[in-house]
Amino acid sequence: MSISNIEWTEITWNPTTGCTKISDGCVFCYAQPLSLRLKAMGLEKYRNGFKLTIHPQELNKPYFWKKPKTVFVNSMSDLFHHEVPDEFIKSVFNVMNETPQHNYQLLTKRSERVLNIAGQLNWTNNIWLGVSVENERVTSRINDLIKIPASIKFLSCEPLIGPITTLDKYIDKLDWVIVGGESGAGARPIEKNWVDVIKEICQKHHVPFFFKQWGTKKFNINIYDPTIDTSHPDHAKGGCQLDGKIYREMPVLQI
Ligand code: SF4
Repeated sequence: MSISNIEWTEITWNPTTGCTKISDGCVFCYAQPLSLRLKAMGLEKYRNGFKLTIHPQELNKPYFWKKPKTVFVNSMSDLFHHEVPDEFIKSVFNVMNETPQHNYQLLTKRSERVLNIAGQLNWTNNIWLGVSVENERVTSRINDLIKIPASIKFLSCEPLIGPITTLDKYIDKLDWVIVGGESGAGARPIEKNWVDVIKEICQKHHVPFFFKQWGTKKFNINIYDPTIDTSHPDHAKGGCQLDGKIYREMPVLQI
């Protein structure tokens, strides 16, 4: 387990590492350079760099965490990547099923595969499923998500690189929406009106809305946003205020 600095989770658990890029949102995937850096530092777990690698030895770890945790599963990979065997996905689910004291947040861009295998998996209440939706081109992932029996279904619209215009079609079947701008060199801009549209739809339908970050200071239209400052307790990359407020709403926990 690693303590996470991702604002919407507590810890990360990576039974697989590595991935391949699949859509526009992956262009500046943070996991790729980080994996290569960890490989260069000699970490055995990252011996294959960003190549998809399964880690069966990770499977027993949640049994030993003393306190209930909110766990982001596979922050460095995608559990539903085509190279992850069905049997391994089932093993990960088995661990989650047997440790109901923890809430597990799965996030994928491979919703078609989840839909194909969903009937063979046990979706206990502690398993949340999210899909990444960076722009309107990939909203078919939401259509897949709403057919899957996860107790909490969520969107991660990060990096938001275009408007999402059809969210109102799906919103009543969703439990949580996260939005964030891209960070780092070459980051693509997020526009405030894209964020406002998502926030307003969430508010109208009473769906928790989490605005994670602007990503880069230059995308934040409020240069006086105090959360730009790295010493601010709610600092996030580029700041995280929206019209002077911080939105860090979470879905109601199932355990
Ligand atoms: S799916 Fe996620 S982990 Fe995989 S390349 Fe894309 S951003 Fe990176």
